[in-house]
Amino acid sequence: MSKASFGWVCRSPPKTVSDKLWTACWVAADRARYSSPFVRSILFGGVYHLDALWAARLVTALLRYSLRFQGCPPWSLRFGSPCATLNTWLLRCHWVRVRPWVWQHPLGGVKLDLSVPLSPQLVDGWINHCRHVLRVGWRAYQFKEWCASSRHELLEIPSPLHWFQKINWGDARDWATTTASAATVCLGATYSPAHWQHKDPSCAGCIWPGCSSLGHFHHVFWECASRPHFAPARPASPFLARFGWSAGEDPQIVQSVRVWLSFVQSQLWKVQYG
Ligand SMILES: [Zn+2]
Repeated sequence: MSKASFGWVCRSPPKTVSDKLWTACWVAADRARYSSPFVRSILFGGVYHLDALWAARLVTALLRYSLRFQGCPPWSLRFGSPCATLNTWLLRCHWVRVRPWVWQHPLGGVKLDLSVPLSPQLVDGWINHCRHVLRVGWRAYQFKEWCASSRHELLEIPSPLHWFQKINWGDARDWATTTASAATVCLGATYSPAHWQHKDPSCAGCIWPGCSSLGHFHHVFWECASRPHFAPARPASPFLARFGWSAGEDPQIVQSVRVWLSFVQSQLWKVQYG
């Protein structure tokens, strides 16, 4: 992050939000350290990640300029101009330029339009809207980067990209802030007993009494016949089954899956940490 970019960050995120996120996610930092930085960014970065924040500040400044001077500055991709800086950042985040001051994000399904004529009555609403679509686009960019990474939990999910617009990210974020075990599952920071199979094979078995299988995630959470009787059925959505992210499923099913995921995560900690 260059010094020039830092100049745009003249306000930090609201302290109450930062505190809540901090408590929920990073109090268990030792346990969450295996979470993917991409997943952390998808869930929480739009609101407090510097990369997303400074772009929101820049867009806000441009919209305020547009109100004051009855339009955006002349379009120029000259190095160092605000619009070249913004354009470069947007293209890096997989936005596509439609025309000067208008971009769309194919994966995020959103459009950023800074060319709209603004009035004092409209400006605040339009700034909020643009900041929202920036966050959606930034999350979509992080999601795509994550899908392109070689995280093992993604290998089992065929064509994950089309899920981006289906998943209710705000709802997933809210769930992650409830308990440490919810945060751990939701951030993809769970590591199964099978994780230990090379370092310490004695810890690599399934946690359920009477089972001697290797404790892979899907075995322990969804497949083992020795699981407690209250284990819910495995949901159809691979993201709900793995991370507790909902995509329009029945709220009761989502709730029962999340209770189960949190419960098993707690049981894993008991076995792994005593
Ligand atoms: Zn088992």
